Amino acid sequence: MSSAPLRPLSSWAQNISPSPTLAVDAKAKALMAAGEDVCSFAAGEPDFDTPQHIKDACAAALQAGKTKYVATPGIEDLRKAIAESYLSSYGLKVAPSQVVVSPGGKFSCFLAIMAVCSPGDEVIIPAPYWVSYPEMVKLAGAVPKAVLATDKTGFKLRPEQIEAAVTSRTKLLIINSPSNPTGVVYTRAELEAVMAVAAKHNLYVLSDEIYENLIYGGVAPTCLATLNPDALSRTIVASGFSKTYSMTGWRLGTLVAPGPIAKAVSELQSQMSSNATTFAQYGALAALREQEKTKASLVKMLEAFDRRRLLLHSGLTSIPGITCVLSQGAFYLFPNISSFGMSSMEFCEKLLEKEKVAAVPGSAFGAEGYLRLSYATSDQIITKGIARLANFCKSLKA
Ligand SMILES: *Cc1c(COP(=O)(O)O)cnc(C)c1O
Repeated sequence: MSSAPLRPLSSWAQNISPSPTLAVDAKAKALMAAGEDVCSFAAGEPDFDTPQHIKDACAAALQAGKTKYVATPGIEDLRKAIAESYLSSYGLKVAPSQVVVSPGGKFSCFLAIMAVCSPGDEVIIPAPYWVSYPEMVKLAGAVPKAVLATDKTGFKLRPEQIEAAVTSRTKLLIINSPSNPTGVVYTRAELEAVMAVAAKHNLYVLSDEIYENLIYGGVAPTCLATLNPDALSRTIVASGFSKTYSMTGWRLGTLVAPGPIAKAVSELQSQMSSNATTFAQYGALAALREQEKTKASLVKMLEAFDRRRLLLHSGLTSIPGITCVLSQGAFYLFPNISSFGMSSMEFCEKLLEKEKVAAVPGSAFGAEGYLRLSYATSDQIITKGIARLANFCKSLKA
């Protein structure tokens, strides 16, 4: 038998960075499983169960034998219901043929990138960014170009920053509002200014609107495709059921795009995954059709998130040395900890070790000097965690 060492794995496997947010969450959960009293601010998902009527519809579909392959871009009724929901929520007219149901919002984003980017193309990614964008762009053979917006501009990119990052190779711009990790929501006017740059340089735009319904303080979400006819023609809207309906484990994403892009996305999906889980799609259909029940669950979740957002923000800003933008969406705050004079990674490691508080370092999101704290956790954990964080910060200043 040959005893030569195995040849190296692929460049894709060697160049991928595993998700740091999932890693911190896993570490916190492991400590908890070992009996440690951890306050975790690492969660990337709502701490609510999926509403009962959605689970019931899925269970009924499973019992009724909806267990086979269906059309790659999703069951017709669900694509219709998604198209109708864009009309009722945003006044956006799209045909069901422009809708693709995918195995997760994450996969919707990846398919969108795969549909428009060739090797060597450049993709502009506003930082702080969701950890998966640069990795997905690299997997498509394209080149991520992060452009940083700090808390000085409320974590919002200025149009001239995007303009300055455009080259002849730029193909795609990614927008994520409300944002993970900052929770920041761009106004309609700000998005119009951003889209003017995309139009000027003929860029495609991927608008990741997964947090579209998790928004507080009376702010309304903007669907990027609704800004004007030009925006509609170049924008791919990714979203999904994970965050709004607390369905992260169901793996159901959506994508809405101009016809030819939706068709390309569906063809890519047909070779990469086939349809999203059939009976899960029937649960999603109930989420959209049984509006009153769905709304009642959503309102309850939003009340809790808004209360915790304010609780966490007032706690953070009461700690000497910490400043924090009060963002209006998703379930994250992104406090500035640069006054403590250490890297965000070192800060997080020591915080977990000394005070058993889990947070994700800003460096994971392309922004040094910050932490991402998720308030998808209980009021008690927030109060206790803030007290521990305050203690930790005091020890650093001493
Ligand atoms: C959670 C999340 C998604 C999608 O999540 P799925 O579970 O794959 O539906 C997409 N984008 C951002 C920014 C997210 O935080």
